[in-house]
Amino acid sequence: MSAWDRTTSREQVLTRIRKLAEIGKISDTGVSRLAMTPLDRQAVELARQWMKEAGMSVRLDAAGNLIGRLESPVAPDAPVLMLGSHLDTQPYAGRFDGIIGVLGAIEAVHAFVSEGLVPQRPIEVVAFSDEEGCRFNKGIFGSRAMVGRLEEGELERVDGDGITRSEALSIFGGDSARLDEAKYAKGSIAAYLELHIEQGPVLESLDAACGLVTGISGPLWLTVELHGFAGHAGSVPMSMRRDALAGAARIIAGLQDLVRAEAGTPAVGTAGTLQLFPGSRNIIPERVQFTIDLRDMDMERRNRLEAKLRELIDEVAADNGLTYSIREDTNSPPRYCDPELMDVIRLEANGMGLQLPELMSGPFHDALALSYACPYAMIFVRSKDGISHNPQEYSSADDIAEGVELLYRTMRSLALSIQGERSGGKWESTTA
Ligand SMILES: [Zn+2]
Repeated sequence: MSAWDRTTSREQVLTRIRKLAEIGKISDTGVSRLAMTPLDRQAVELARQWMKEAGMSVRLDAAGNLIGRLESPVAPDAPVLMLGSHLDTQPYAGRFDGIIGVLGAIEAVHAFVSEGLVPQRPIEVVAFSDEEGCRFNKGIFGSRAMVGRLEEGELERVDGDGITRSEALSIFGGDSARLDEAKYAKGSIAAYLELHIEQGPVLESLDAACGLVTGISGPLWLTVELHGFAGHAGSVPMSMRRDALAGAARIIAGLQDLVRAEAGTPAVGTAGTLQLFPGSRNIIPERVQFTIDLRDMDMERRNRLEAKLRELIDEVAADNGLTYSIREDTNSPPRYCDPELMDVIRLEANGMGLQLPELMSGPFHDALALSYACPYAMIFVRSKDGISHNPQEYSSADDIAEGVELLYRTMRSLALSIQGERSGGKWESTTA
C-alpha cells in the first residue's frame, strides 16, 4: 500500500544526520550546538534548505521556530497536522537527540509529495527553538511560545556570557517583541507527532527497534533543608548529636526504598544534589540541603509516594533532633498520549510487521508543550545502552529507518484522513 522507498529514505536521513553532526562537532561522534548560537542558526539554515527541497514553504517565526508547511489545496484553512522536534543540543551531546525527529519528518513529507498525494489538511514540520534549555536554564522554549505557555521573566534570563534570551533570539532571527505572533490559535493544530530517541534502556531490554509512548511523566521537584547543630566530631556523644547529614542519608536511602517498593511501575525517585554546611571532617554537619525529583505516570501513586516521603522526613527529623523545611519547585502532572493517535500508530506498525512495545517518557520533549494545545503521540527509537546527552549516544541506522518509516506511515494515514462529524471526532481514513 505504501510507496515508501526504504533504501533511498534511509540513506537520505543518515546522510543528513552526518551533515548536521559536522555543525558544532567536538569529537568523532560528539556535538555541541547550543540553542540560538551561530552554530544553531547554521543547522536551521540547512534544515530550511531540506524543507524546501521536500516541497514545503518555510518561515522562521518570532520565537525562532523553523516551520515548513505543505499546503492542502482541498482544505487550506483546516487545522494543521504537525510533526517536529529540535536541532539544538546539550554542550556535550550526540548526533540523534531531537535531530531524527526533524529529519524524519522532512523525509516523510518528501515521500508524501513524491507519491503525488494530496493532504486533506496542511502539514507542518517544525524544528522547535531551544528545546534543551541548557543555555538559559529553561527548555522547550519555542514549543511553549507556540502554545502560549511562556512565563514571566523568561526573556530576561541570561546565559554564561551575560547575553539575555531576548538578545540571543533577535541575533538568531526571531523577535521577542512579536512573540505573540508565534502563538497558534486554539484548535488550529489538529494533532502533533514526534519521533525521538528513547534516551533510556527500556526498548533495548525488550529487544525492540521502536516503541509507542504512553505519555510524558510529570516531575515533582522538592528542595529539602535539614537543620541540626554543629559540634566537635570527637567529643559529642552519639546520643546527644543533632547531625543533619545523618538525617539526610536516612531520608535519601528511605526514598530509594519507597520507590523500589513500587517495582514494575514507571515511578522513579532521585536525590540529585546535596550541599552541606560547614563541611569539615571533624565537625558534625549542621545544615544540609538536597533536591528530590519524583516522577510517575500515575498521579495518585506519585501523590502517595510524596506523602510517605514527607512522613519519613518528619520522623527522621524528630529522631535526629532536626528542624526542616520543604520547598516545592515544580509540580507537573503527567501528560498522556492520545488513544486514537496511538491506535493509528499501532495499526501502521502492524502493517510493517513491527513489534511496538509501550513505554512512558521520563524526560520531557516539545510534545509536552504541544500536549496543552492538541492531541499528541510519540514514537521512540531504541538507544544503545540507554545513553543520551553524551557523545556516546547511539541509535542504529536500522532502528532509525524503522522509526522514520513508522512516522511516515502514520503521517500519511492522518494526512489522508478527515476528522469530523462523520466519524464523531475520530480519525477516519478516506482511503479504503
Ligand atoms: Zn530531545
